[in-house]
Amino acid sequence: MNDHELQVDKSKLKTDELVQIALGIGAGIIDVVVISTDNISVKEDLADMCRKPRCAFYGLSANCPPYVSGPSGFRDMLKISAYVLAIKIDVPSGWLITDERLVMMRLLHEIVADIERSAIKLGYSRSKAFAAGSCKEIFCNRHLSCRMLTNNGECRNPQYARPAIEAYGIDVHELNKTAGWFKSQDLIETALDKASTSAIYGLVLIGY
Ligand code: SF4
Repeated sequence: MNDHELQVDKSKLKTDELVQIALGIGAGIIDVVVISTDNISVKEDLADMCRKPRCAFYGLSANCPPYVSGPSGFRDMLKISAYVLAIKIDVPSGWLITDERLVMMRLLHEIVADIERSAIKLGYSRSKAFAAGSCKEIFCNRHLSCRMLTNNGECRNPQYARPAIEAYGIDVHELNKTAGWFKSQDLIETALDKASTSAIYGLVLIGY
């Protein structure tokens, strides 16, 4: 056990407190589930999909490949995490092909970043948030270049822009199963008379 692990009292992981904080930040639009780090599935072939077929934002942001640590880096981050908060926002599927998609993704980035900050304040100094979508599209679409990759190297939106979850090969299908969300999705669809719904996802690694 290293020095960092010794500082963590594993009987007091503040899990319930952090979930309540996350639900408060999410203001009724998010689902939050606590997941063991062992149950997060990370796959190289999923991360490779940023490159082939090439995402329109590949290489355009410091928070996207090839500038992020990918699946191997994510596994290293899991090793220094006590647990993971999985975050989901349900959206009408039609929104994902309109500008509403960017509004919701921006909201998701803002929520997971605020949860990350709360975890750090509670003592989990190496907490780290991830969210769906490229911050280049979400926050910097009107700018030619990512500022972290050019000029003075400072992010224009450090408070909220977070790395793209897709870049790390997170298996969202497995995440849905682990979180028990397939069932709730079925119930939502029944309640909406089978109206089509989709979801966007974020993760906050509660790192110590
Ligand atoms: S400057 Fe813009 S594109 Fe670059 S990391 Fe920050 S938010 Fe993302």
